[in-house]
Amino acid sequence: MTAYQFSESFAKEMDAQDALSSFRNEFHIPVWKGKESIYLTGNSLGLQPKSAREFVEQEFLDWQNLGVEGHTEAKNPWLFYHHFLTKQAAEIVGAQEKEVVIMNNLTANLHLMMVSFYRPSKARYKLIIEGGAFPSDQYAVDSQAKFHGFDPKDAIIELKPRQGEHTLRTEDIHQTIRDHADELALVMLGGVNYYTGQAYDMKSIASVAHEVGALCGFDLAHGAGNILLNLHDWEVDFAVWCSYKYLNSGPGGTSGVFVHEKHGNSADIPRFAGWWGHNEKERFLMKRDFIPMEGAQGWQLSNAQIFPMAIHRASLDIFHRAGMKNLRAKSEKLTGYLEFVLAEIANSGKFGFEVITPQNPNERGCQLSVLVKENGKKLYEYLKDNSAIVDWREPNVIRIAPVPLYNSFLDIYRLGKIIKSFEA
Ligand SMILES: *Cc1c(COP(=O)(O)O)cnc(C)c1O
Repeated sequence: MTAYQFSESFAKEMDAQDALSSFRNEFHIPVWKGKESIYLTGNSLGLQPKSAREFVEQEFLDWQNLGVEGHTEAKNPWLFYHHFLTKQAAEIVGAQEKEVVIMNNLTANLHLMMVSFYRPSKARYKLIIEGGAFPSDQYAVDSQAKFHGFDPKDAIIELKPRQGEHTLRTEDIHQTIRDHADELALVMLGGVNYYTGQAYDMKSIASVAHEVGALCGFDLAHGAGNILLNLHDWEVDFAVWCSYKYLNSGPGGTSGVFVHEKHGNSADIPRFAGWWGHNEKERFLMKRDFIPMEGAQGWQLSNAQIFPMAIHRASLDIFHRAGMKNLRAKSEKLTGYLEFVLAEIANSGKFGFEVITPQNPNERGCQLSVLVKENGKKLYEYLKDNSAIVDWREPNVIRIAPVPLYNSFLDIYRLGKIIKSFEA
């Protein structure tokens, strides 16, 4: 590959060579402070696909014209709406279709999965998470431990980076699992850490967890639609993700669940049940006893949320056309360019910052987390005043997420130019 250059002509040339560049036109780019924004927060809320409106409009029309008959007569019959999402969602996480279901919201799904896959005994009750995990995940695992009568301070083991380091070493994760071999019930990590942007070696973590007799699940809020996933082959037990970050399916959008096929067909796995998880062929016989559907679908509770799912269909359709492998190949170049531009600015000695995200592309997604030593908040505000939308995390980190579907190399160049013009 040609060496990167911090120049407008270089960025434009990279965009001209990018086979995915036209996908940007399929999204609404917000205008902020009077200018088209440099939107680099797809890790927090992905942009709106222009096609989303049509997908939702179809359901508005069918509801308007058909009322309850829409369940069977709508263009996309509502009774089966969740089915229309599974194939493309399975492509994104590297799963078989029957291992995936779209339902509910992320934290609710995390609880449903832990009901089935965190079943502590007196001897084996510990749960490993990342130190400084996303708060919702911390609250979820703490409350699960308490629900089973354990003290979270004893039951929850938090992985911490070594002194002076920002991210976790794979060998340390493995070692912690082995250190607790006999008392460990579950390893539950964010597949990509929301704060540092580190992508964990999910395959080896799942494998070591299994070696010691524990189960392993991932929260892929920052992984789905960002990195290449292979949940089936990695033998991950379960995973959950949201649809509104990299998957561009709207604020508070629906969520996805993966249950590995080795568990999906065991009707006797304890679970919290609802009518939508019941054998579809008999669902409307309204019979007494619950018989779960095979696969992830057997964890459904409620009838499908048509409107958030309509938006999700619009987005998954775009992912399907672009292809995760192509997106990932572009993502590596785009984030590499951001890394280069930041290093150029740092080398000019203007002000101090450190990228805490791993340098190895295999250990990160598209996001770079930049620790700004002084005046970080001021820099963040300055960027926003100049139409560059990045995100600020206390105490001193700016997260920048160039998304390969709609960000361009020119976006990165422009961001660099604004950072360079910052006077603290
Ligand atoms: C975004 C995010 C959440 C948010 O949970 P919701 O239930 O969708 O509100 C939870 N966990 C992680 C790791 C996240 O990144």
